[in-house]
Amino acid sequence: MDKYDYDLFVIGAGSGGVRAARLAAQLGLKVGVAEEDRPGGTCVLRGCVPKKFMVYASEFSEQVHYAHGFGWTKAEAGPFDWQVFRDTNNAELDRLSQIYTANLVKAGAEVIPAHAAFKDEHHLVLTSKQGGERIVSAKTILIATGGWPFLPQHCPGVLEHGLTSNEMFNLPELPKSLAIVGGGYIAVEFAGVMHGLGVDVTLFYRGQKILRGFDDDVRDHLANEMALRGIKVRTQIDPVALKKTDAGMEISLNDGTTALADQVLYASGRKPKTEGLNLDAIGITPDSHGAIPVDRFSRTTHPHIYAIGDVTNRLNLTPVAIREAIAFVETAFKDNETAYDYENIPTAVFSQPQIGTVGMTEAQAKDAGIAYDVYQTRFRSMKTAFIKGESRIFQKLIVDQKTDVVLGVHIVGGEAGELIQLAGVAVKAQLKKAQWDATCAVHPTAAEELVTLKDKRA
Ligand code: NDP
Repeated sequence: MDKYDYDLFVIGAGSGGVRAARLAAQLGLKVGVAEEDRPGGTCVLRGCVPKKFMVYASEFSEQVHYAHGFGWTKAEAGPFDWQVFRDTNNAELDRLSQIYTANLVKAGAEVIPAHAAFKDEHHLVLTSKQGGERIVSAKTILIATGGWPFLPQHCPGVLEHGLTSNEMFNLPELPKSLAIVGGGYIAVEFAGVMHGLGVDVTLFYRGQKILRGFDDDVRDHLANEMALRGIKVRTQIDPVALKKTDAGMEISLNDGTTALADQVLYASGRKPKTEGLNLDAIGITPDSHGAIPVDRFSRTTHPHIYAIGDVTNRLNLTPVAIREAIAFVETAFKDNETAYDYENIPTAVFSQPQIGTVGMTEAQAKDAGIAYDVYQTRFRSMKTAFIKGESRIFQKLIVDQKTDVVLGVHIVGGEAGELIQLAGVAVKAQLKKAQWDATCAVHPTAAEELVTLKDKRA
């Protein structure tokens, strides 16, 4: 009889855990996966996927605005039926979750609907929703429990009344007005979505510019575009308390004033989800952000216990968790130590307008002491040519003066998420500006500007 019940036991059936379990099972290993919710994880159930459907739903109102310019004089957006959208969205998520389960089973993995906690370094206690407990043993264990929204803990009323992104997909009804706290990915994405659905949105951000870490020009451009669309972006202001009143949520701000909104969404970051894993039993201490410390092969301090994805708080993106899963399987089971390469990872923010970005920001190039040139442009998209308005697409290339390599590409507007995927290939391949220039333009597109930028910014 085998010494362990499983060759690999995966805790968490999100993007990273599922990919690792499937690949390992396909190698003929005995794999178990514990998931306390439905399989799918943040991306499928509470993140990327439902969010993108919401983005699509919300964009129609803006399309109607463009349509008027093109002669659809009677086009109008509305009424929007939130319940219809929400139920269709949930049915689609059910379908996707079932596919996740089916793919695991087809690969030969066992999916166990239970919460898993460490008993010791090779044993896990699995607790089902009904409270039944059993103990399993595994030779290798992968922690892929993801992350969870974080709300400021010491602001009165926030834990009680603040919504998180988790609840946004299942609101009983759309609020008339929404306050959003935070200036990161989730804050700006929901600001665009809810505004597009007809909600009066105000975003409160404690810093000077939203989207810390992004290129400064991108941050300014997006804030301006959001304001042009009618989203109120208030910076250097921080909500300190929430109170439910007959008129709605009263938000006390740190400048002594108050604001009112029907609902308040806290998009104030996410924390690795380690609660309930009983990491003490195996002597693993999360770092100051609550993340499980791992080496570049995703190994914890125990050589047979690994962690991938948001629970390690490296780069919290679904495709990164999937690449970490692939590298983990290579390392742990194929005798091929593989560390994922985090250089030049393209990413999109599905704000309205979208952001696509890959490589260095201007500030990073400056801080690294690199002599660089900037090529940038702001232009009106053809789609909006027939309506009056100030909205512009912004594109920026950062080029190494010495080597001519394009170090960073930053786009705001249009299908920036789609564009950056391909720009990401060129940046990852360290192509030179001369090679971008030698690429023939595709006309008429917004993307063609990227290969026709001739003038360096002064
Ligand atoms: P982010 O870390 O991106 O942003 C959190 C925001 O909340 C920041 O603006 C931060 O301000 C602010 N904040 C933090 N603590 C407080 C506080 N106590 N009071 C008020 N404001 C606070 O987190 P998100 O939750 O937006 O997203 C989490 C991660 O999920 C992202 O970083 C990204 O990796 C991933 N994600 C990716 C998406 C995509 O690929 N399109 C979409 C959504 C999420 P400050 O800047 O001052 O710290």
